[in-house]
Amino acid sequence: MKNNILNQKTENFASKKISWTSIQTEMKNKFGKDIYESWIKKIEFVNEFNDYILISVSTRFIRDWITSRYLDQILQIVKLYKKNINRIEFVIRNFESEEEKGSQKTFSSTSENENVSFIKDSYLQYNRIDPNKRFDNFVLGLSNKLAYEASKKVSIDISHCNPLYIYGGVGMGKTHLLNAIGLSLKDKNKVMLIPAERFMYQFVRSIKLNEMVKFKEYFRNTDILLIDDIQFMNGKEAMQEEFFHTFNALLDKGSQIIVSADRPPNKLSRIQDRIKSRFSGGLVVDIQSPDYELRHKIIKTKAEELRVFYSDQFRISSDVQNFLSSEIKTNIRELIGSLNRIISYSRVYNKTANLSEVKVILKDLLNLSENIVTIDSIQSTVCRFFKISKNEMLSPRRSRYLVRPRQTAIYLTKILTSKSLPEIGKEFSNRDHTTIIHSVKTIEKLIKEDAELRSSIDNLKNQILYNKQNEV
Ligand code: ADP
Ligand code: MG
Repeated sequence: MKNNILNQKTENFASKKISWTSIQTEMKNKFGKDIYESWIKKIEFVNEFNDYILISVSTRFIRDWITSRYLDQILQIVKLYKKNINRIEFVIRNFESEEEKGSQKTFSSTSENENVSFIKDSYLQYNRIDPNKRFDNFVLGLSNKLAYEASKKVSIDISHCNPLYIYGGVGMGKTHLLNAIGLSLKDKNKVMLIPAERFMYQFVRSIKLNEMVKFKEYFRNTDILLIDDIQFMNGKEAMQEEFFHTFNALLDKGSQIIVSADRPPNKLSRIQDRIKSRFSGGLVVDIQSPDYELRHKIIKTKAEELRVFYSDQFRISSDVQNFLSSEIKTNIRELIGSLNRIISYSRVYNKTANLSEVKVILKDLLNLSENIVTIDSIQSTVCRFFKISKNEMLSPRRSRYLVRPRQTAIYLTKILTSKSLPEIGKEFSNRDHTTIIHSVKTIEKLIKEDAELRSSIDNLKNQILYNKQNEV
């Protein structure tokens, strides 16, 4: 009995994200890949209320940026899906406050400097060194070893590899390494870790507020300047000019510069050639996609951390670990994200997720998007399973041997796609939406009472979502 309720909840838990996925697709079309990847993708959907939705981003800066540029259009798109939504609210994800605390510590040593104190606060907010991203919890593999070693090297012996340029795709650990360098040097040096977007933002802001002198002074006063995601530096000439001079001034005085990017220096599209050639002149290292071994090592390490943290309450079984390591190949962020998602599921329902549940929880990550889960594929799979023909399933006949499979297919369509009741009705020979509700309720009820049906449904779900015949 309890299991069935959980099964239901697994569906709800996963389905919450589905409509946001469609909204994201819509936004990607509307804003184009660049803006989407840089900003919009950072939005996480939190919840839906009567007339507004709640979304979250990790920092105030991202919130402000999105609000000032894209929010109106995002609202328009959301309204396409739900007319009565008339506003969007943001929350800033929790960890920000901790990071801010961390950065205050970092910069306390500069507070004596009168000259910079005036604008210090505004930079302070942007100088976030995350105490959780350290060398000692950076898991090593073939793909990231070089970048790790170079990062270690500059932390021990600054300005010998200058600048250090680390590049690689998203979620590969670049920001982690920049943080680790910052953390290990911050006690003895003035460290500034800033995403390139923020550098631009501050630059523009300083011009507006007539604070250019302080801006320059501030940046030229750092011993270690870490600029994250330099590919986003696409500012006007004047800004690149300033950046170039800051850069040279820092190199001249023996400060260490570390830059991260998603591509090698010569592929940076909007950056002046002389800056690119400065980058190429230092040490350039890349981080490649993690292989199975590294993915497994990361999953194992994180699962162990979680096990200790939750004092054994939520174990990630070894088959789930193996599954994640072999299926989530894109990057390390997604890998860790998938683990966190499983844990939040476990916390909400106070239960360890088994492999079947994990597949449902991670449906979208596993590329099991709705394009794959079509009503047609559900109908075919269910027909094959119950050995009836599609015509029979779609016919008006009410023989018992047809009714149950039909209801099952309707139920699976409801939970595995985001189709509305009338849409589902239409696909089942124009059945009325009340028939659809009835079918869903009947199966929900039966699942609680009938172990055999429950296992059939589990099996079917697995086949539909994962295209596998064998149930786990
Ligand atoms: P990037 O900046 O390259 O997009 P991040 O540094 O933000 O990627 O990494 C994404 C997530 O994965 C972070 O939570 C980071 O701590 C984690 N991560 C990345 N690489 C490793 C690794 N080798 N060991 C442990 N955690 C890692
Ligand atoms: Mg990063």
